[in-house]
Amino acid sequence: MSPLVDIHTHLRHSSADIIEVACLDFCQLHTTHKGDINAICRTVNERGNSIALGIHPWNTGSLPPEYTETMRTVVQKCPSIMFIGEAGLDKTRPIDMNQQEEVFVSQIELSEVSGLPMVIHCVKAFDELLRIRKLLSPIQKWIIHGFRGKPDQARQLLRAGLDISLGEHFNIEVPRVVPLNHLWVETDMSDKPLLSVYSAISEAMGIKPELLAENIHQRFSELSSKSLPSSMLAPM
Ligand SMILES: [Zn+2]
Repeated sequence: MSPLVDIHTHLRHSSADIIEVACLDFCQLHTTHKGDINAICRTVNERGNSIALGIHPWNTGSLPPEYTETMRTVVQKCPSIMFIGEAGLDKTRPIDMNQQEEVFVSQIELSEVSGLPMVIHCVKAFDELLRIRKLLSPIQKWIIHGFRGKPDQARQLLRAGLDISLGEHFNIEVPRVVPLNHLWVETDMSDKPLLSVYSAISEAMGIKPELLAENIHQRFSELSSKSLPSSMLAPM
């Protein structure tokens, strides 16, 4: 069986047959390291080879000064950053939506200029998300992580060109409406074994977990060969 790719996790699974995209929050790193860019990069690179770095919509209320420029520099300096995210919109949080949108848009711009795909957190704000996408016409891949919506909403996102990632909790009808080439698997905050998440999703699709694992691994390899090495990017 191909190595299992976990496209979005906040935990450390550290298993030889798992490739995990560890998600780190820029604001937390900035606070911990008091804005020291070299220290932030050291922590990022120590965490693994495939990192998602972003500003979570929950943290958009308390941003470091000049966060856009600082984050750009970090992305430029850290070869292990493979995704921008998780970033996005969340209407269930008491944070001004204009502020959330502004921070999301700045991360979309970073994703485009650095050639890195996005991992997106979106809760009850899909209309806003699709409006922004239409306005900016991004080229980079967008993956909606932890999708728990219904098949109709999944179809709407797929029509707009987005990929969907499913985790421990998903609508059982969704895996059948997402084409294999646009589907990802994640554990996020769950400590449920990744293999059992793969098994549940592949069962709902009516395919073998090996096929799902192989397909995702193949696409992940293509993404990583495109995004590396980010340290070679032209100055932004
Ligand atoms: Zn997450």
